[in-house]
Amino acid sequence: MRMKGWITWPMGLKGLNHGVKLFLKTIMLPTFDPRDTEAGLRILEDITSNAGHIQEQVLEEILTKNASTDYLKGFLDGHSDKGLFKNKVPVVDYEDIKIYIDRIALDGEPSRILTNESITELLKSSGTSGGKQKWIPKTAEEGERRAYFSCLLATVQNRYLQGLNDGKVLLFVLINPDIHTPGGLVLRTTSESEIKNRKDRYPQFILCEDTDQSLYSQLLCGLVQRDAIASVGTYFASGLLRVIKFFEEHWQEMSSNIRTGQMSDWITDPNCKRAVSLILNKQMPELADSIDIVCHEKSWEGIIKKIWPRTKYVLAIITGSMAQYIPALEFYTGGLPVVSPVYGSSEAFFGINMKPLCSPYDVSYTFIPNMAYYEFLPIDNHQDPNCTNRKDAHLKDHIVDLANVKIGQHYELLVTTFTGLYRYRMGDILLVTGFHNSTPQFKFIQRTNVVLSIHTDKTTEQDLQKAVAIAMQILEPLGFFLLDYSSYADTSSIPGHYVLFWELQLRSNDDIPELDQVKMEKCCSLVEQSLDQKYKMLRNQSISTIGPLEIRVVKQGTFNVLMDFYVSQGTSLNQYKTPKNIKSEKAIEILDSRVVGKFYSREVPNQDS
Ligand code: AMP
Repeated sequence: MRMKGWITWPMGLKGLNHGVKLFLKTIMLPTFDPRDTEAGLRILEDITSNAGHIQEQVLEEILTKNASTDYLKGFLDGHSDKGLFKNKVPVVDYEDIKIYIDRIALDGEPSRILTNESITELLKSSGTSGGKQKWIPKTAEEGERRAYFSCLLATVQNRYLQGLNDGKVLLFVLINPDIHTPGGLVLRTTSESEIKNRKDRYPQFILCEDTDQSLYSQLLCGLVQRDAIASVGTYFASGLLRVIKFFEEHWQEMSSNIRTGQMSDWITDPNCKRAVSLILNKQMPELADSIDIVCHEKSWEGIIKKIWPRTKYVLAIITGSMAQYIPALEFYTGGLPVVSPVYGSSEAFFGINMKPLCSPYDVSYTFIPNMAYYEFLPIDNHQDPNCTNRKDAHLKDHIVDLANVKIGQHYELLVTTFTGLYRYRMGDILLVTGFHNSTPQFKFIQRTNVVLSIHTDKTTEQDLQKAVAIAMQILEPLGFFLLDYSSYADTSSIPGHYVLFWELQLRSNDDIPELDQVKMEKCCSLVEQSLDQKYKMLRNQSISTIGPLEIRVVKQGTFNVLMDFYVSQGTSLNQYKTPKNIKSEKAIEILDSRVVGKFYSREVPNQDS
């Protein structure tokens, strides 16, 4: 399992004691001592009070630096004029620029096709509508910018999270082996890039590429030092639930290791062995007893607080598609505040949650204006964001810059970076909720075009539709057709899984006979097999992040009842479309109460097809 993520976690003052040396010679990043919270806060106040001006400077710097790249020359003819940029440079998505990135990544052509900074790595981004990975250029200078962002983040955390530095941060991170592109660049996720470029800041076992051994070692060390842990975290909330599941399966073995002072034989990775043996260096029967008492309890409600009693905070992104995990996290954390610290991506880091202790439902991110140049495409609040015409030649005419967004308005984010992305559609829909000084704050609403997501998978309505149509080929010869269907991501169990509600009908209009279990299970497998690579990869992991897909067949007439429900909630009958991803609990109840058969996929989808 690889947990998605992309940022240096707030290590608090302790983690920053070495100081972060900033090599960037730019007026854009005013230097400060990262240990000096007050100085950091003053910088934040300063830059958020001058967002409009700083953004213009950022654009100017990007254009001056990159005007001679192949890409920009094609539109600006070597000029670096901001007005010309706004007039001539088109809004693009990944597919539009893939050809440039492939030339660098696959053919080994120089970075200056896109940027005059030197591309040192490619970041694998999951933020895609089709589920195909995107490869995002990263440069050494960009690494410095992100380190700077992390210092600002630590400043906010140090200011608002009292006691964060009174102990250790137990941050669960997993990494995969590096891949090299044919053009000779390393391909990594943002978190892998961060960890591998700053190895000295992390415990050695984090470098272990075997998921089970790594997680086992991280948990074991966390248990031995249970009284020193002041906060627990993962990058995204779904990751923490997977950790809890893993702990559920392994706690007895870990407790026995602690009792005897011996680690299990299957821990063979040298990094893990070395790190664990340093901590697990004697028999600790009392500690093992205390862990047994907690874990033997029938309910695991509040388990995090019970296992790490000094924990004050849980750190994990809990907004956007992660919001579905809030109830589960509240259950396991035993009421600890869950801090959703940042909004960012492989493409750039964007915003910091300036009120880290607010309710997970109220989180907004204040954009940091000196990281990249941001623009926004307004989305009609009543319009389905999936319907934004992605190739409209007039898109440019609607663009608004950071300083001019309006409270209450939804936007799709466009980003222009130093690293070679220009007016690039992030595919994220944001809502302006307010301003911090003159800088807007955004609530993350959703990805464009995504209906289902358990972890870092992103299944669109079109993907789902296609997969369902393929699976139905099993039932069609038997005279069935699919009257309607819907879906939701069921995260009530771990790992979460996709649930599809199907209302079948016989062409003969006869009553539906008892369904053939084997055929229905085959339908489940076929849907999975027809989903994208990312989904299949997550299903295939040794600790799978997504469970087997389920089809719940509902009795006839169910989708009419569902429609009646939505109409009663104010939806116009004329405009009613069956929601393909049900969010409303009441709607799920309506469907669930009419289920006549439940079927699960029995095969793990083949990743190679
Ligand atoms: P990746 O490039 O794989 O790190 O994925 C980046 C994507 O993750 C973003 O474009 C968002 O869709 C999502 N994301 C990142 N941060 C947040 C957040 N704080 N809340 C909700 N979604 C987020």
